[in-house]
Amino acid sequence: MLAVVANARFLVPLADGPSVEAVYYGSGTLCISSQAGCAVGCPFCASGSRGLLRNLSEDEMWAQLESARAQGYEPLRITVSGIGEPLHNFQSLLAFLDRCRAAALPVSLTTTGGPLNSLKKILHLPHNGLMLSLHAGKPATHRLLIPRAPDFNSLMECLTQVLTTLSRRRRRKIGINYLLLQGVNDDRTEFLSLVPLFRRFPELTLHLLTCNPVSDSAYESPSAEKIDELHGALAGLGIHVRRPNPWRIQQDGGCGTLFVRSF
Ligand code: SF4
Repeated sequence: MLAVVANARFLVPLADGPSVEAVYYGSGTLCISSQAGCAVGCPFCASGSRGLLRNLSEDEMWAQLESARAQGYEPLRITVSGIGEPLHNFQSLLAFLDRCRAAALPVSLTTTGGPLNSLKKILHLPHNGLMLSLHAGKPATHRLLIPRAPDFNSLMECLTQVLTTLSRRRRRKIGINYLLLQGVNDDRTEFLSLVPLFRRFPELTLHLLTCNPVSDSAYESPSAEKIDELHGALAGLGIHVRRPNPWRIQQDGGCGTLFVRSF
């Protein structure tokens, strides 16, 4: 059985005062932030709870890698999945992807999908994985959980359109993130409208995620039994579905738990 190495969390100071957090996962992946704060407003998220302060420059994104290295970690790959919506900081993101590519560091990202024209562009560019956070199968649930993302139907239309133009190998790099929140989006009926997408593009992966509790949050994830039950039901529908990975369910690894300090 694979040994689970502890995560390490870094506070990276910015020149004008605030600091952003990054996490080194025991798997060798470094999760970095792309913005100080976030404008998307997901109600379960501590990282964006105080809104957007500003975008990070390419150098400030790279500094998070240097910070990990300075503390003795040598990341094998990077994911831009920390604080912020990377597509809201598109030019820095593109420059950062180029820099990682030049350094032979595989890089993936997580996005809520807006603006749609940036989503289209990034889906066509070389990357090591793109996770689109939907957290819902119904437009109303999506609007509640990701209030300032493009609307659900536009996202699905855009994604479908681009996927038809990608090779099967490229499609395997695309995933849908689904943060399970008890009593909000964990009903089986919520998943039904996602089934046609996964049947049409069986190379896609559905990643079930759990949230780590943060103070004052009204949201929590369902029990392990409920997650197992959902996982089995979705796999039975022919969906390539993954349970939450062991590094992300450690205390420092949960979705939306990173903070911007010193506002
Ligand atoms: S979950 Fe991501 S997109 Fe949503 S508010 Fe938090 S940092 Fe922003």
